[in-house]
Amino acid sequence: MPGVKPSASLTSLMMDKQDVTLTSLTQYARRPGATQSSLLQGARQAPPDEKRNVDNEDKKAVQAPKKKRKKKHGITANLSGTRYEVIRIVCEKCKFDICKEDDPNSYLIWSDSFVSADRITEMKPFQRINHFPGMVEVTRKDCLARNMMKVQRHHADEFNFVPKTWILPADHSMLLNYAKDLKAKKKYRTFIVKPSNGAQGHGIQLYKNAEKIPPSEHFIVQEYIDKPLLLEGYKFDLRIYVLVTSCDPLRIFIFNDGLVRMSTDKYINPSDGNLSNLYMHLTNYSVNKHNEYYQKGDSVDTGSKRSIRYFNDYLRKNDYDIVLLWRRIYDMVVKTLLVAHPHLLHAYRMCRPGAPAGSDSVCFEVLGFDVLIDRKLNPWLLEINRSPSFGTDEKIDFDIKSALIEDTIRLLNIKLSDKRRNYFAQKAEAQKRLFRTTKRNEADMTELEKKKQSIEKRREELKEHLARVRKATAREDFENRNAGRFRRIFPSEDKLKQQKYVNIMSSIFGIVMSGRAPAMQKEIQKVYNNQWREEDILDMIAECEADDKDGKLTSGGSKIPRGPKPLSSMPISVRSPPTEDEFDEEEEEEEAEYTSPPGSPNMNRRESRPPSTKSRPGSLRPDSRVSNDASSLCNSRPNSGVSSMRSRPVSNMSALNSRSKSLSRLHGKQSVLQRSIIDDNFLITVVKEREDELTKKTLLALSDMRIKFPGKTDQEAELILDTLHENWKFHKPRIASYWLVKLDSIKRRKVIDIVRSNVRAVLQRIWRISDVDNLRLYRIFTRVFNRLLWSHGQGLWNCFSTTSQNGSWETIFSKSSENICENEFNCCRRIVQLCRDCLLIVYQFAAEAKSSSQQNSENSELSSAGTLSSRDKSSSTLVAPLNTQTMSQRYSKLYPRADTTAT
Ligand code: ADP
Repeated sequence: MPGVKPSASLTSLMMDKQDVTLTSLTQYARRPGATQSSLLQGARQAPPDEKRNVDNEDKKAVQAPKKKRKKKHGITANLSGTRYEVIRIVCEKCKFDICKEDDPNSYLIWSDSFVSADRITEMKPFQRINHFPGMVEVTRKDCLARNMMKVQRHHADEFNFVPKTWILPADHSMLLNYAKDLKAKKKYRTFIVKPSNGAQGHGIQLYKNAEKIPPSEHFIVQEYIDKPLLLEGYKFDLRIYVLVTSCDPLRIFIFNDGLVRMSTDKYINPSDGNLSNLYMHLTNYSVNKHNEYYQKGDSVDTGSKRSIRYFNDYLRKNDYDIVLLWRRIYDMVVKTLLVAHPHLLHAYRMCRPGAPAGSDSVCFEVLGFDVLIDRKLNPWLLEINRSPSFGTDEKIDFDIKSALIEDTIRLLNIKLSDKRRNYFAQKAEAQKRLFRTTKRNEADMTELEKKKQSIEKRREELKEHLARVRKATAREDFENRNAGRFRRIFPSEDKLKQQKYVNIMSSIFGIVMSGRAPAMQKEIQKVYNNQWREEDILDMIAECEADDKDGKLTSGGSKIPRGPKPLSSMPISVRSPPTEDEFDEEEEEEEAEYTSPPGSPNMNRRESRPPSTKSRPGSLRPDSRVSNDASSLCNSRPNSGVSSMRSRPVSNMSALNSRSKSLSRLHGKQSVLQRSIIDDNFLITVVKEREDELTKKTLLALSDMRIKFPGKTDQEAELILDTLHENWKFHKPRIASYWLVKLDSIKRRKVIDIVRSNVRAVLQRIWRISDVDNLRLYRIFTRVFNRLLWSHGQGLWNCFSTTSQNGSWETIFSKSSENICENEFNCCRRIVQLCRDCLLIVYQFAAEAKSSSQQNSENSELSSAGTLSSRDKSSSTLVAPLNTQTMSQRYSKLYPRADTTAT
């Protein structure tokens, strides 16, 4: 088992806003060989003059040897726009080349201030900049208030986490009316007045009497939250770091640490006597550091600035419902960014017209959310900072902020090759434009041509959609592996929550965009709520291609049955569909036999029966023991038979229909009424209880599967695998070139899909669940399949290496917070093994097909030259005695048998 990380705690979060300029701490950090703690100690202990001297000496020491000018050909970072040293330190740690000047072509551009739309427009697709255009809609206090108010009118209950706010001078009379009403009800409130675009607590004042608030321009007034949760008697707020990596589509992450910023005078309810005591009412570091009682923290649980991790521990120890609190905070962050989303999307698309849907975002943003917690554990959003301070006055700042920046950079996935890829993509696009045929007038076209054009259009749309789905899968896979201390909160993994967010998002677009909303709302449903899977789209493309040949366009209604797709290079091997009687017999015997589509290598159960009738090419034989046992879980959920058949690999529609019919007949035979009273919930509970048992059975069934070579027996197929492994040195470069270069991504996926479809069928049968997508085990498998396709097939190729742990599929579990049990892991291992075998068989098949066609042509046309080179021979003829021992040795050496415990 790989080392599995304990699941990241939901609750380890938070932070403080301080705008501290770089301290000597970070200058010290440049000293070669100095550790962070020694630097911090040095920075704390040395008096200022001394520090200056040390610094100068240090500089001299560093400058003494003449530095060689390094040529920069790595990933470049333009940090000329930021004053924060910690960003430079982290970039250097990530091995980025820091540009001396403001290089507009750097891979990474980090700026503390606003970035113009023009600059974002000019950026190349491989570049990244740390701001989004349009973010000001939630980062300026008055804009946030205005946008929130708009949404609150329609969703008052969902957006009740912002204190009641009035924008001056426009809302001044409303404020006075509100105060009058309060007076009439003998209620008394305090109001806080802040500059609309202020920061660091500048210009903030508290009022008990709203009538005294002047209707000044550029100010907002907020109801003062007068019952805050206190920490050791002090008011505090949290600085939570949120990362937005993309707005098209929206992706939001929250960092699992941050700062707790405490005020420095003990809190007392606001009264006329203490309103002006900002050390009591404000929690800004920039305000409180001037108080003589401000404490620099020597450890995590002392001082005026603490970590969110500490805060969580504190809450836990004091029996607060920490999970509830963090759930509320996550919800608040997502909803706030949903409010910003229409603005972000509009501005981004204006800046980047023509960017392919789902392409990497050139913008990202680390936001600082300032959140106050009240005594009822409700979070209140005070403001959002678009350039949160990365000052590192204290060790706690450095620890949290450097980790934050490092994990941010990792999630950006900046690669050196991006630049080159971008260059070639641009070139290809230019060529496409050059050779684009002019559109013909529809009136000049025949009916057939019109239909063809319409099929072509649909095919293009599907391909685009396919690319988007694949991109999303790859992105998700990358994020899962590289999130570090971030946790993704949108899109949410909780399907119900996600549905709710999508509805809110859609509604907000309706509120903000009015007339243009319907098109956007449709797009939202498609992008964020899309149920289409890759297999569905591939089926539809195949359907289009078939229609194209016939010259007809079918509606999306009838689908080609899902299953392993034939590889173009594989022979056609059609099996006639079984008759109803045959099928019934099979069902009764629990010996379901699934025919696979023509031409694909198939998997069947290793067994002693003669292969002549059952193990012909194109057959999959599941394990009968498994079916028998699992049938006790009841298979008569409405439609379960039919829908599970839909996912079974079948040879053609008639097979599907005949099976569906016979299945319903079969259901009729069984006591349908009796079984249908078992409700879904009960079934789910039963399935859960038997999860371990069913996983074991799945493992058994997977262990019994073998990849079938069309036209050959299982023994011959094993022999082929053995021979390939025995001559590995020879085949290795050829297989690498075949898999990584010759096959395109669609074909690579088809190879993996051969295993995937059959695994799905096994799961459906053993777990008696028609929709295996919701099965935890299948979700785990999906991650493995994605991993194998990762990096243009490199994922599977890495699995052929016996030594390299780096990049091995197992790391997806060691880096994720999900715990998987031993049997689940062994199932995954077996799947990887099957995928490896599948590639080898496909490769060998292709090699033989190529070689025999070569031989044919050579025999007929060049009979005089008619011998193959020894290289060709060894790749096409595989003669060796069957050696089952070698086979098992090989498995146990490379991948020890998965089923030792299960059997
Ligand atoms: P700035 O951008 O100037 O820091 P904030 O809105 O963050 O302005 O407010 C500064 C501080 O004032 C906060 O950290 C918090 O302690 C306090 N504060 C702000 N608004 C409220 C409020 N509505 N209720 C209670 N305290 C508040």
